[in-house]
Amino acid sequence: TARPRPLVAGNWKMNGLRPALNELAAMGGAYDGALRRKVDLLVCPPATLVYVAAAAAVGTGVAIGGQDCHAKENGAHTGDVSAEMLANAGASHVIVGHSERRTDHKESDAVVKAKAEAAWRAGLVAIVCVGETKEEREAGRTLAIVKRQLRGSIPEGATADTLVVAYEPVWAIGTGLTPTAKDVEEVHASIRAELRKIIGKDESPLVRILYGGSVKPSNAVELMGVANVDGALVGGASLKAADFLGIAAAY
Ligand code: PEP
Repeated sequence: TARPRPLVAGNWKMNGLRPALNELAAMGGAYDGALRRKVDLLVCPPATLVYVAAAAAVGTGVAIGGQDCHAKENGAHTGDVSAEMLANAGASHVIVGHSERRTDHKESDAVVKAKAEAAWRAGLVAIVCVGETKEEREAGRTLAIVKRQLRGSIPEGATADTLVVAYEPVWAIGTGLTPTAKDVEEVHASIRAELRKIIGKDESPLVRILYGGSVKPSNAVELMGVANVDGALVGGASLKAADFLGIAAAY
């Protein structure tokens, strides 16, 4: 079976003022030749920088995405940003259901699903995040939790061109802790199997399943080499071009 083209995606979270665009420029400048042939690169800056980042990234091949979107197209939702607004600003992707959104903003699977639908309505690729907490892992509930999140968060009609799944164990995000390669392999295999049930045998092998949680240049080769790991979702290490490119160089 064909393997998906890898995607290395950066999530800048609530970090990045205009000088951070220098890092984006450095990423774009280095993204050519063998690297560009092998891997897709995506940077998700804060909403305030999406427009200027997308303009700066034109011609570099680096895609720009949002970190969240509202489910509605527009309306009385002070402070929120719609998928249409992100698309209009030049984004091609949007992260939905990041654990920081699920926790800090109490986003349920149903809310995440509505946001993924909004992403597609606006023509964006939805990066749907799933992952267990430390307590859930210790209780042996990881696979059940991830399965519930996938079932609840992925809308009907997903394809390999419109959906990316990111497996991000909550306890590995920003902590420097990572699961073992064997643990990652187990969860990614179970995500692949679940995707097959949700979207069918033709599309599911081609959906990118990213690993996220304390990915660094020093662990990228091992983590990206695991079966069914089709790229990375990178937080802290995506803020500096050298680190982000060091991770992409795992391919
Ligand atoms: C993330 O927030 O998606 C993430 C993986 O963060 P970090 O790489 O910093 O652990």
